[in-house]
Amino acid sequence: MIAGDADSHRHRYDRIVSAVERAGAEVDDRLARFHRSAICKVRPDPDLLKLGAHGSSSFGLWYEERKDAPPVDQPAFGTLVALHEALLNHIALLAERAWKDARVPVQEYDALLEKVTAFNELAGRLTRAFQAAISDIDPLTGTQTRQVMLRDLKRELQRARRAGTPGCLALADVDRFKSINDGYGHAVGDMVLAAVAGLLIESLRPYDSVYRYGGEEFLLCLPETGPEEARRVLERVRGRVAGQSIALGDGRSLSVTVSFGLTLMTPRRPIEELIERADKALYLAKENGRDRVEVWRPEAPDARA
Ligand code: GH3
Ligand code: MG
Ligand code: MG
Repeated sequence: MIAGDADSHRHRYDRIVSAVERAGAEVDDRLARFHRSAICKVRPDPDLLKLGAHGSSSFGLWYEERKDAPPVDQPAFGTLVALHEALLNHIALLAERAWKDARVPVQEYDALLEKVTAFNELAGRLTRAFQAAISDIDPLTGTQTRQVMLRDLKRELQRARRAGTPGCLALADVDRFKSINDGYGHAVGDMVLAAVAGLLIESLRPYDSVYRYGGEEFLLCLPETGPEEARRVLERVRGRVAGQSIALGDGRSLSVTVSFGLTLMTPRRPIEELIERADKALYLAKENGRDRVEVWRPEAPDARA
């Protein structure tokens, strides 16, 4: 059984942005305390003089727990951590020096400011990158938004045209979803939608993409995949969704099915036409009893195909 509220990429990215922001706040706080102590000649509190403050900081603890898992295992995070650690130690040393020797050599202070700039630049870059990624993700389902879908699909068509290895495109629509909203309420409907999306993302291969096309419809892109293989992949996904019981969090659970309309991404056709083909195949899947995969076929011989 799976929980209805799938932990989406979006939430994970949100937490990464907050962690980086906390790291910045820690730097600002310690810098302000150092300046206060140095300028006003008041005794720095022992916590400010402690070496290794990074290790027990909120950012340090957060990083230790996640450093081996993507995307936190990326080298940029390692660099940010090294800068944070060095910066907090440098502040501690200069705070002690300002208190004991009453004077900090100007080169030392400039070196500290250089570290601050390097830290802020990298923290800003990481934050902006993850914020941009968040805005490409649908908040409810964790799938990618329709806004990025067309851009991605056009790129995939260009790739297929160059390489001569077309992929497939499919529309997935939750069966009788309106009756779930009507029977259990909209909030449960939302939970079910998030759970179905989570299953689609999990069951597909890492290089496949899932977009929220509309309310309870998802568009799947399977690059470099012929129709037979795509059909096998979708059959596996379909079976997984149908066999899964979705926990509603109050002891109740329910199951749903999904219908799929599949089409080859013939590179010479505009993307809008290919989506229309997938939609026609989806309509067929609904007509033929739902919980099934149908492949688009031309109703009449088409000279341009
Ligand atoms: P079919 O098997 O033919 O697809 O039947 P259906 O009931 O799934 O299809 P229909 O298009 O009649 O209903 C889709 C419903 O999905 C109607 C709409 O209110 C609901 N819906 C769309 N977006 C959301 C959403 O974000 N959350 C919830 N809870 N419901 C949504
Ligand atoms: Mg629909
Ligand atoms: Mg539906």
